[in-house]
Amino acid sequence: MGLEQLWAGWRHEYVTAATEAERRGTDGGCVFCRIAESGPPSADNGVVWRGELTLAVLNAYPYASGHLLVLPVRHLSEVTELTEDEAAELWSTTRAAVAAITAAYVPDGINMGANLGRAAGAGIPAHLHLHALPRWSGDTNFMTSVAGARVMPESLPVAWERLVAAWD
Ligand SMILES: [Zn+2]
Repeated sequence: MGLEQLWAGWRHEYVTAATEAERRGTDGGCVFCRIAESGPPSADNGVVWRGELTLAVLNAYPYASGHLLVLPVRHLSEVTELTEDEAAELWSTTRAAVAAITAAYVPDGINMGANLGRAAGAGIPAHLHLHALPRWSGDTNFMTSVAGARVMPESLPVAWERLVAAWD
């Protein structure tokens, strides 16, 4: 099994587990709600920053080092369900996440955005979240086509330290 398939396998397992928990219909089954309720930011819960209404958390299954997720504390799936205050804080937290990634990693570019609904590629469609991750010229194309792998040069605790230090 190639590394690329291994990564895809992990992601599949993660997504499948999340989906089954969702089907059971309990908020305790939502991985993002569990993180939101897990207390102050720490390397253990992966929370880099938390505000009153939103938080920024390391993606436990990243596409790149420094891959952050920004989400409302409240369990909701639709952008249209956000209150004005939640929408404003979600945007300011996303802005701060992009700034922290820029300061911590000095990437060539950043992917920032959301997949709304499973058909759009959301792994956990029940709890709205935005992605922000650093990109380098030629990173995915080169590694995926030539080596069949993604580059993960650092562990999640190291990425957490780096982003917390860079967060304004
Ligand atoms: Zn949730």
